[in-house]
Amino acid sequence: MINNGLEMGIKKDGFKGEIRRHVPMKECTSFRIGGTADLVLYPQEIGDLQIVMDRCRDQKLPYLLLGNGTNLLVSDRGVREPVINLSHGFGEMRKQGSTVMAGAGVKLIQLLRMCAANNLSGLEPLAGIPGTVGGGIWMNAGSWDMQIGDLVSSLMVMDRTGKIRWVKRDEVEFDYRRTKLPAEELILQGEFSLQREKGTKIVKRMEEFLRKKKETQPLFQPSAGSIFKNPLGIAAGKLIEEAGLKGTRKGDAMVSPLHANFIVNVGAARSKDVLELIDLIRERIYQGKGVKLELEVMIIGEPEMAA
Ligand SMILES: Cc1cc2nc3c(=O)[nH]c(=O)nc-3n(C[C@H](O)[C@H](O)[C@H](O)COP(=O)(O)OP(=O)(O)OC[C@H]3O[C@@H](n4cnc5c(N)ncnc54)[C@H](O)[C@@H]3O)c2cc1C
Repeated sequence: MINNGLEMGIKKDGFKGEIRRHVPMKECTSFRIGGTADLVLYPQEIGDLQIVMDRCRDQKLPYLLLGNGTNLLVSDRGVREPVINLSHGFGEMRKQGSTVMAGAGVKLIQLLRMCAANNLSGLEPLAGIPGTVGGGIWMNAGSWDMQIGDLVSSLMVMDRTGKIRWVKRDEVEFDYRRTKLPAEELILQGEFSLQREKGTKIVKRMEEFLRKKKETQPLFQPSAGSIFKNPLGIAAGKLIEEAGLKGTRKGDAMVSPLHANFIVNVGAARSKDVLELIDLIRERIYQGKGVKLELEVMIIGEPEMAA
């Protein structure tokens, strides 16, 4: 009902993007897990997003923001809040000297290819990360000792009132897998400061990073990437592997035999299976090593019912 009001309201205000109801979240996430979202909105442009923010604020509605859904575990019971998916719009990219601007909905791989085509290097360690620019910056995604925040020079953001502004990098806190914006704004665009280098060299490095990832991570099985953050000084995957948990299953959720910090969906895994596996891993590592593993994956949607 609440979402009906929102849908009618944004249509009245001239929302031009796509509106979908009863969307299986397994279709919107790389884990291929999750119940139905009541309402998913795909704003095409900033004006659309402002319309949605205005209505959500007026109706005091919380919402969930989605990029490419590659760092998420969605509850089997689905999502009641409106989901705002930025991955169908916000796709602009442009270059000025050795600076590149990219919209929140641009896939990281598209950005990397554009940079290589323009002889601009720096972002190639991100090859193989399947997120968007918006999700990548929000998560401060990274690989091989490089994080996307290292190269951000400024961000275009929108606050909860729909106001847009540019934020300089020194106003932003880039932590390990978490970016703190001054007022938890939404990211609309990222500006990256890059180095000039021959495109062929950049492509070669991208391919090398990707090759190494394919060898060590289950990139072609449904997952949400690393489940846990690495505790200080040690890889979570190493702890889990040393505890003998590779291949451990709960239903169709399995600790990847290739990389122990990935849980893969080997069929029709439910979020309940993944959560049980997470609990088992945490318990074992805490009992065995005294280390409390912290989640990197974000859990969203209606909480599972207690058994
Ligand atoms: C096979 C595989 C390999 C992976 N490898 C890596 C890796 O090497 N390194 C790494 O860091 N991650 C990795 N990941 C995790 C994931 O790809 C990254 O965290 C990515 O940055 C998430 O981007 P996304 O667009 O999919 O965000 P989503 O999963 O859609 O969202 C993640 C979070 O970002 C928020 N968000 C999304 N867009 C915006 C926006 N515009 N403004 C504000 N908040 C926003 C969402 O609300 C949510 O809280 C991997 C995932 C998979 C499936």
